[in-house]
Amino acid sequence: MADVIQLLPDSIANQIAAGEVIQRPASVVKELMENAIDAGSTSVKLMIKDAGKTLIQVVDNGCGMSVTDARLSFERHATSKIRSAKDLFSIRTMGFRGEALASIASVAQVELKTKRQIDELGTRIMIAGSEIKSQEPCEGTSGTSISVKNLFFNIPARRNFLKSDNVEVKHITDEFQRVAMAHPDVFFSFHHNDNELFHLPPGNFRQRVAAVLGTNSNKKLVPVQEDTDVVKLKGFVGKPEFAKKTRGDQWFFVNNRFIKSSFLHQAVTSAFENLLPKDTHPLYVIFIEIDPSRIDINVHPTKQEIKFEDDKLVHNYLRVAIRHALGQHSITPSLDFDQETSFTAGSPRQYPGNIDRSTNFTSSTLADKISLESKSDRSRHDSNLANWEKLYEGLKQVDEEETATTSLFPSESIDLPAITIESEWTSPRTNEEKSNVHYVQSAPFQIHSTYIVSQIKSGFILIDQQNAHERILYEQFLKILNQQEPSTQQQLFPKTIILSVGDFELLKSILPEINLLGFDLQEFGKNTFVVNGLPSILVDKVDETQLIEALLEQYKQNLELRLDAKENISTAMAKSAAIKRGQTLTIEEMKSLIDQLFACELPFKSPSGKNCFITYGLDELAKRFDS
Ligand code: ADP
Ligand code: MG
Repeated sequence: MADVIQLLPDSIANQIAAGEVIQRPASVVKELMENAIDAGSTSVKLMIKDAGKTLIQVVDNGCGMSVTDARLSFERHATSKIRSAKDLFSIRTMGFRGEALASIASVAQVELKTKRQIDELGTRIMIAGSEIKSQEPCEGTSGTSISVKNLFFNIPARRNFLKSDNVEVKHITDEFQRVAMAHPDVFFSFHHNDNELFHLPPGNFRQRVAAVLGTNSNKKLVPVQEDTDVVKLKGFVGKPEFAKKTRGDQWFFVNNRFIKSSFLHQAVTSAFENLLPKDTHPLYVIFIEIDPSRIDINVHPTKQEIKFEDDKLVHNYLRVAIRHALGQHSITPSLDFDQETSFTAGSPRQYPGNIDRSTNFTSSTLADKISLESKSDRSRHDSNLANWEKLYEGLKQVDEEETATTSLFPSESIDLPAITIESEWTSPRTNEEKSNVHYVQSAPFQIHSTYIVSQIKSGFILIDQQNAHERILYEQFLKILNQQEPSTQQQLFPKTIILSVGDFELLKSILPEINLLGFDLQEFGKNTFVVNGLPSILVDKVDETQLIEALLEQYKQNLELRLDAKENISTAMAKSAAIKRGQTLTIEEMKSLIDQLFACELPFKSPSGKNCFITYGLDELAKRFDS
């Protein structure tokens, strides 16, 4: 019998390969953009028409190709990136198989223009369905431009299989964002049908991530950074309050290539445990650097999957690093704010090294932290972090004991210690539950009519009643101003107050805002106002005159701090209306103050930056009595 085996013609072999590598326009975008980066470009421009179905073009300013290389680049297994089988395992990047251009050219009409810096003329090659149509010298700047037209023009079944434009653009956007995030020092732009969707000037890592994620994302980011012997981690996680119901803002990169990993995802979600409202997903962008010999990449270029040799270790490092970052964020809101304001003010010089700066306060090593997790033997001067971690530990125990505990506080204001306190107070959500409640263990008590002592699972906290109440009122007033929904308690006997000329004018100028807070003030002749009502959130027993005088005084002082008007008024109001040190409180008042404090977005500091409470851990106390 005659031999029956035949070698497939190249064009068919290429099409078969293309079936794996090129599934949709987005796959072309990925391959072309990665090639542009590999060529050392500092500028990469992506243009597509009709969701990439008509045209995908990538223009770079990289190294370009010689005449011979330009021709060879379309051959299967043609690559400048792998020289031996050993390279397959040692390269830091993934998916080099020298197949992309050959595959693309087998299923589309491709025009390549490329020129090296040292060459006078460049090369222009037209190829369609693996067939070279023309090759000629051409003029142009150095770099490479590849246009891929009418993808799958010769495979109608595949072409018909493409999804709607919206879906295909979404896939392309995903690929574009992945490459752009991994290369903040490179300029990228992305046009669809002449609309510019992205314009990303080179910048630092945080700027790039924020720019890729879109408007307002910068304020949502908490930096994560850890260097260990095994892995280097850097990136950002979203603050818990910004978690979304939909997935999509989850990004892992290993050695600068995007990957998907349910295993790593699990590590992140475990770090967010108890911090997120149900069915929401945290935002994260995490870059992992690891010795390539410690990972097993499934070399299939589209799968983006990975296995780690030390998977437990990587898992643990990631979880602890993120938890630590979240703790830092909660404990040091002012630091966070510094970074963010200077960044959003659009002045990079004010914003040195973002990520680096944040690591300055990541003083201990990761190994320390891991051991701390189990032993919790942090010395006192490391108070903030240690406190937080202890609170958190308390929380974990409680959770194990009473998994049924549900959230007391509105989900958007959940913060770490809030949850701890909550589990302590086991407060009810319904009236029925309410009648069954007894506050676990002891009720809070006051010392020196100034501080409130409250027991928590892991020890106790000492609250400064004035600072705490300022924080509570500040957030409440700010909310009222922002939502413009004041609630007024009308006065039975309206009172008049007489002010100095200056104060009278000042109050007149801020009267609309003041009344928005829930005041009902009216001008009443010369230097006089009549107080018809007060904000209902104020404790009773306030003296209107004192309150308003103190408010104006504070407002004037705050002017120097150049707060915006709303912040100024809220701060001033909070300061003038807060419970003062020296004021005796009932148990009910203390309980309500504690509940409200931990329902705050930032319970740690008063609006002027003073501590609202200090935490004392049991083990810390035990140690002090032991020595
Ligand atoms: P691979 O990237 O796996 O090597 P490709 O088929 O994507 O395979 O590209 C083949 C070769 O063509 C590359 O190895 C590179 O030498 C060259 N090449 C492709 N795109 C560019 C570009 N934008 N600039 C310079 N050289 C390129
Ligand atoms: Mg390539």
